[in-house]
Amino acid sequence: MGETDLNKERLELALEAAGLDLWENNLLTGEVTRKALKTFSELGYNDEEVLHHIDRLFEFVHPDDVAMIQAAVGEHMAGSTPEYRCEFRLLAKDGNWVWYANYGRIMDVNSSAPGQRFIGVTFNIDNRKRREDEIAQINRQLAEQNALLQSLNSALELLAASDPLTGLANRRTLMELGAKECKRAERFEHPLSVLMVDIDSFKSVNDNWGHLVGDRVICAVADICRLRTRENLDTVARLGGEEFVVLLPETSAANACLLAEALREAVAQQEMVQNDDGQRVAFTVSIGVAPLGTPGESFEQLLNNADKALYKAKQNGRNQVLAFQPVRPAAPGTTG
Ligand code: GH3
Ligand code: MG
Ligand code: MG
Repeated sequence: MGETDLNKERLELALEAAGLDLWENNLLTGEVTRKALKTFSELGYNDEEVLHHIDRLFEFVHPDDVAMIQAAVGEHMAGSTPEYRCEFRLLAKDGNWVWYANYGRIMDVNSSAPGQRFIGVTFNIDNRKRREDEIAQINRQLAEQNALLQSLNSALELLAASDPLTGLANRRTLMELGAKECKRAERFEHPLSVLMVDIDSFKSVNDNWGHLVGDRVICAVADICRLRTRENLDTVARLGGEEFVVLLPETSAANACLLAEALREAVAQQEMVQNDDGQRVAFTVSIGVAPLGTPGESFEQLLNNADKALYKAKQNGRNQVLAFQPVRPAAPGTTG
């Protein structure tokens, strides 16, 4: 066996071991001097079906990949890339698209007839591409799930911060906000007041009309408080049961009392019509008012003061507003 034949044998073995299919085109004649037979038999075609001319190759290439191959070949022909590389899908006999890669180079560039022989290899990269697709798909799913989790988290945060019946801030939110507002008011020496609003004899509303009507009364009072306070400044919270707190930054005791009186009157004038029999449900509220007073006073103390005033309003006969009166220390010499 001559050295040429030996080299040929060695080349064939190397190509086979590496899973490479050698092809060669004559760029001047357009003739395929060595066909990618292995690739096409791998795709399920018999020898006769295998392409005979370089242009027919594109009948087997996925329409979305044609332009990309032509561009890669064109760039290499123009000398702007040292070799030609691209990845594309080929149509198998069974109708499936299979991923392949091409690696090639125009030979004899320095000979008298430059760029005549275009030699390259084709190899199957379908498994790798499918894994990449799977990973991309998994990443897309993960991104979708993350977006869903984020929106669920925001919804949960909103739920955790608000009262489900009225949509008002809940006790937790109020306590956080109240503490902040107290600090801010004290630091800038601005006024701050709170109202403690409690529906009068609410037990009898429930007893007389039922729990559902009771819930509607709670919502009606909540709406009045919300609609008559300043959006984005005041906070109306449901403390629990039929008890509400209105947090009023930038509000003196006198102005807080005016607002409380307006709320009390609005509630007293509101009559809820029972859908079933047209009977009217009347209800009232009592309100305790407390302004932020002594330096360092906590929000809890402020609420406690408003609660004391509310207790007195109840004792005085309900449906009324009372402001907290601090117990003044007795003047020296007045005791005993
Ligand atoms: P007062 O004038 O002294 O405030 O009397 P009251 O009957 O309003 O006060 P009390 O605190 O004794 O009763 C409050 C009632 O509110 C008792 C409870 O069954 C009812 N309640 C608490 N939460 C809800 C609720 O979410 N819906 C309804 N319908 N009733 C509630
Ligand atoms: Mg009550
Ligand atoms: Mg109560």
